[in-house]
Amino acid sequence: QAKKQARGGFRFFGKGGNSNVRERLIIGSALREALQKKQLHLVYQPQICALTGTLCGVEALSRWQHPTLGLIPPSTFIPIAEETGQIEAIGLWSLEKSCQQVIEWERSNVYVPIVSVNMSAVHFCSIDLPEQILAMLEKYNLAPQRLTIEITESVAMRQDPETAANLTAIRNLGVGLSMDDFGTGFSSLSRLAQLPLTEIKIDRSFIENFENNISSLIVAEAAINIGKRLGIKVVTEGVEHAAQETKLQELGCDILQGYFYSKPLPAQEMSLWLETFPARRATCPHA
Ligand code: C2E
Ligand code: MG
Ligand code: MG
Ligand code: MG
Repeated sequence: QAKKQARGGFRFFGKGGNSNVRERLIIGSALREALQKKQLHLVYQPQICALTGTLCGVEALSRWQHPTLGLIPPSTFIPIAEETGQIEAIGLWSLEKSCQQVIEWERSNVYVPIVSVNMSAVHFCSIDLPEQILAMLEKYNLAPQRLTIEITESVAMRQDPETAANLTAIRNLGVGLSMDDFGTGFSSLSRLAQLPLTEIKIDRSFIENFENNISSLIVAEAAINIGKRLGIKVVTEGVEHAAQETKLQELGCDILQGYFYSKPLPAQEMSLWLETFPARRATCPHA
């Protein structure tokens, strides 16, 4: 009977796990071709100064348009890339595209002060990362202050010496370091305060439905105050309504990001978006 099952292949796995494992296998191998075949692209979401309404920067987010599987979201393919040893290639690709794009915008007279790139915790323990970042800045002649690397609390949690050394080395390059999804992880506050961060990004869950969720808002307020006391920038992501904007302005959050301003856009549409709102192109105090 076991033999019969074994020949069945996927029958090894439970009913629920079946399609999941299969999906991961398919996506994992399709991903190997994705970069070569130029199926990946970046979209950019503006970050707005809460005080002046000017553009502080953009966050680069990966998209994968597969010819038959359709649009695969990063929440699906990034974890698979991490498991199948492909995350470094994707990290380097998004780093390069982002640096290139900022320079390209500038050539067409669009000034984007800072580009933020998401970097996986898995990539972060590679000893090559600081040099890879430096090489990219030099290749595109981009000032280090114009690049920010977004990390998650899982990076802060890592005990390996490579990760700690990378954080310091990257910060010493002059590149910004942002703690993404702040408040959703399990790292201790004392640990966070010791990291060479230039920014924290409060997770959108803390401002969702804030009128009815006082405890979440208390966390957001505390996080804003921690950032202020540390003397670093505070961003809130997932701003969808005017009421959230008003509240975050009141609480003293520096930078706002979310659908209320714009969805993540392809590079060309991002330029158009900026042309539509010329006031946003004034000098931003956070740049
Ligand atoms: P993240 O870095 O926290 O990015 C924020 C996510 O929230 C993005 O989802 C963005 O599209 C979405 N978002 C922005 N504004 C709003 C809003 O107002 N409301 C709502 N509901 N959502 C909003 P996305 O693009 O699907 O990315 C999901 C996650 O995948 C990212 O979370 C990031 O952790 C990861 N990711 C994306 N691109 C990359 C990449 O190139 N490398 C790595 N390592 N991770 C990436
Ligand atoms: Mg991010
Ligand atoms: Mg986030
Ligand atoms: Mg996230």
